[in-house]
Amino acid sequence: MEAYVKTVDIIYRYEARNTSARPLPADSDAALLRLNDGNSDFAALLDHVNDESGIQRVIPVDPRDLGFGSDVAGTPKQRPFAAVLGCSDARVPIELIFHEGPNDLFVIRVAGNGLGLEVLGSLKYAVDHLGGTLKLIVVLGHSGCGALTTAVDVFLNTGDYLTIAAKHSIRNILDRSLIVVQASANKLLSAFGHSVTRNPGYRQALIEASIVTNAALSAYSIQQEFIAQDLPELQAAYGVYVLETREVWAPRLGNINGTGLAAAPRDVAGFAHFGDAVVQSERIGSYIK
Ligand SMILES: [Zn+2]
Repeated sequence: MEAYVKTVDIIYRYEARNTSARPLPADSDAALLRLNDGNSDFAALLDHVNDESGIQRVIPVDPRDLGFGSDVAGTPKQRPFAAVLGCSDARVPIELIFHEGPNDLFVIRVAGNGLGLEVLGSLKYAVDHLGGTLKLIVVLGHSGCGALTTAVDVFLNTGDYLTIAAKHSIRNILDRSLIVVQASANKLLSAFGHSVTRNPGYRQALIEASIVTNAALSAYSIQQEFIAQDLPELQAAYGVYVLETREVWAPRLGNINGTGLAAAPRDVAGFAHFGDAVVQSERIGSYIK
């Protein structure tokens, strides 16, 4: 039977007289919860496409973010509650998938969402200048990421590296990813045994395990580098936006099939637990049949 798709409206609503449109999260836990609630709302939108009435989702926008009622006329104050490092991939628009609007998120997007110098500089700026409202730093990968897919293919067939050996900009992204792919491959080998490399789903499992490990490792680095000593009230988190379900996936200790962003591992032991959760997750296991 053909699905009958009604209209889905996602509306940004500015109400000039309402100057308390949406309160900012008070701490990092509240910030994490707000993003996770926003994503589950977004993911659920299209679950109701057969509803008779169609669907409308209103995202309230504070008029101060357009310069109304701000202290300095016409100059809204920047006040994001989270910084998000995501991939440039056009299928992952950050504000949309978290149901957020202007001035809510400090967004950095680069292919493969790696921690290059420009990215670190942007995060440093956010931490140094937006500390009044900023509560959370998120690293968000996505399923099927081209950057990690290329890294996995080079890892599986090292001769492929020669095709990018003279392309500095691509090589730069790839070199950072290879350590993540190596670590993910080791984890798959120890979980599923050495024959796993001959499994038809091995390449796909390695790609998806590498994508989430890349996000978690970056969040771990940020936690250590920017947050740990100086800014204990800030928190780093990771997740993978799954294009097929529109949900964020983050396997973690105690919740191997975790939905929604998860707090970054805090130490080496925490990272080992994370790695175990990845290879025990249903999503990775589904590729190894
Ligand atoms: Zn990508």
